[in-house]
Amino acid sequence: MRIDVLTLFPGMFSGPLDESIVRRARTAGRLELRVHNLRDWAVDRHRTVDDRPFGGGPGMLLKPEPLFAAVEQLRGERTRVILLSPAGRPFDQATARALAEQESLLLVCGSYEGVDERAREQLMDEELSIGDYVLTNGALPAMVIIDAVTRLLPGVLGDDESARDESFSQGWLEYPHYTRPAEFRGMKVPEVLLSGHHAEIARWRRAQARARTAARRPDLLPGAADSPPSGANDE
Ligand code: SAM
Repeated sequence: MRIDVLTLFPGMFSGPLDESIVRRARTAGRLELRVHNLRDWAVDRHRTVDDRPFGGGPGMLLKPEPLFAAVEQLRGERTRVILLSPAGRPFDQATARALAEQESLLLVCGSYEGVDERAREQLMDEELSIGDYVLTNGALPAMVIIDAVTRLLPGVLGDDESARDESFSQGWLEYPHYTRPAEFRGMKVPEVLLSGHHAEIARWRRAQARARTAARRPDLLPGAADSPPSGANDE
């Protein structure tokens, strides 16, 4: 998969995307990532990309000319162009899965008060928000989306099963995990997990996932898939 990012702050991307699973995906050639500076498409010698809003009000807006020039140059025939915006559709695991099926994404990061509305209307296939709060610019939201999508690309996770069991992947929150030691400061690991009885373990995990989802995120339950978390069917 190829992901292009258009931002005023390309330096923010080095570090987070040079570590961990995203780095591995890039090294393995599963993800081709290119981060572009919007200023490279500015036309004046000051490399201006922003201007005051018509009608007054605080802050600056990204001007349409550099945005149109950049997006028109960077997008291919099958590129999905996505604007990061607090006003966008909430990004979730189902969206991450859908995006992981795409051949090419262009993530457009807003800055200041956002982008000129004509650029939003004409250039974007979709607008995504990463949550009901306002960040300074679209770089962090773009990185969140890149991370969530990359780990779903085929062959990227060491064990492909691990994405299948995770929270949200089947409409549930994940069940609790324990590792060694079996007893720590008087706290014991649930007996069933030590039993070696796979069917019992699967039942316990399914019950825990349900209880945790009901307690913490009951809003997820009506949409929960019928199938239980993986392992629960291994009877
Ligand atoms: N004036 C805008 C508003 O009230 O909706 C907020 C602009 S914000 C300071 C600057 C840029 O950061 C946005 O254009 C967007 O690209 C990005 N951004 C901020 N919060 C975001 C969020 N929750 N999800 C996605 N992008 C966000």
